[in-house]
Amino acid sequence: MPISAARVLARSSFALLVAAPLAAQTPSPAADSTPDPIAQMVSRLDLEHYKATIKGLTQFGDRRQGTERNRKAVDWIEQQLKSYGCTNTERITYEFNAPPPRPRTGNAPARRERPAYPAEGGSHVRGIRARTGVNNDSLAQPDARLRALNTEQSKDGERQEVYCTKVGTTHPDEMYIVGGHMDGIGWGEAANDDGSGTAIVMELARVFSSPDVKTDRSIRFILWNNEETGLNGARAYVAQRQALQGKESPAGSGKYPEPRWLGMVQHDMMMFDHGMPLADGTLPKEQRPEANTNIEFQSNSKMAEGSNKLAWAFSTANDKYATDYPAVVGQHMTNTDSAPFQDIIPSISLRENERGAQIGAGWDPNWHQPTDLFKTYSDKDFRLGLNAAQTTLGAIATLTGARLTK
Ligand SMILES: [Zn+2]
Repeated sequence: MPISAARVLARSSFALLVAAPLAAQTPSPAADSTPDPIAQMVSRLDLEHYKATIKGLTQFGDRRQGTERNRKAVDWIEQQLKSYGCTNTERITYEFNAPPPRPRTGNAPARRERPAYPAEGGSHVRGIRARTGVNNDSLAQPDARLRALNTEQSKDGERQEVYCTKVGTTHPDEMYIVGGHMDGIGWGEAANDDGSGTAIVMELARVFSSPDVKTDRSIRFILWNNEETGLNGARAYVAQRQALQGKESPAGSGKYPEPRWLGMVQHDMMMFDHGMPLADGTLPKEQRPEANTNIEFQSNSKMAEGSNKLAWAFSTANDKYATDYPAVVGQHMTNTDSAPFQDIIPSISLRENERGAQIGAGWDPNWHQPTDLFKTYSDKDFRLGLNAAQTTLGAIATLTGARLTK
């Protein structure tokens, strides 16, 4: 509250100053004296709530799909959403059977030796690269309690993922989809990948579900499962629900089980932007002060034009509502749950770094590692995630016509 309120105040006094010569001739409208309701909504986010939600997710270890700890995490998320007032929770049920492992050929090039360009999503890797990969070694986790918690391996079969919906008052038949993935890997706590994005979605569900918040259009808050196996939870959602869009059911009820999709916004790894790896392959210990949130769309997709526009709407919201860190727009969105939507509707992802050129080049040393733990991160890291939450809240509130009622 204090920082954003101060900013709003600073803005209005600046506007008054600029308007002064004009005001001498015509009485100035009171527009600037009315507090921005969206800024008030953004001020309902705070670092401690955000951290507590991430901490809550880490009680289920890495939340690997197809395990009991993953199912318990889905149950916990659903309870939390309900406790926030997002009571109309539903689940997508689908089947996931792991594909047979690819045969190993002795001469496959190591990840770090692949050509730097073109890299994932059409990006171009430059500068120093560090090692990346998925830790599959239980003994790399020194904490015996966490090692035991993460021991159960995935079994093929039924999967579930949960969502809830803020129903719009004048256009209940249209919605934005706000997502993050609740599953993780690597024998840690998946605190950043993707507890940090999951917590943003949950925190936004909390703020938008406050009884005094109304929106014209609907918003769906969804926590994907099976992201780490190849976006299978998001793919299942598209397969099951794309054709249901905009249909009133039952007829005449004014209810739309699947409002028409207006845009998809994914949050995946939100907290760690310490810069490029150093020459010795390690990362700077502290969040860099010039850290930013990367808003990416995919220029090589059918909906590139609309996605580009959506990305800039988020950049504008960041300028207006994020307290500490800026955002930058890029065109190489890849490897996350917004990808199955990118040829259907405007789709973007928010991240700590560019997925292709930066995370793919080793800018996050905890990615899929036993060190992706709540305790690994400082408040400066958590704050980068909070700023992404402020950005998305501001953007989605603007796009859905959010207002506060007494
Ligand atoms: Zn992820």
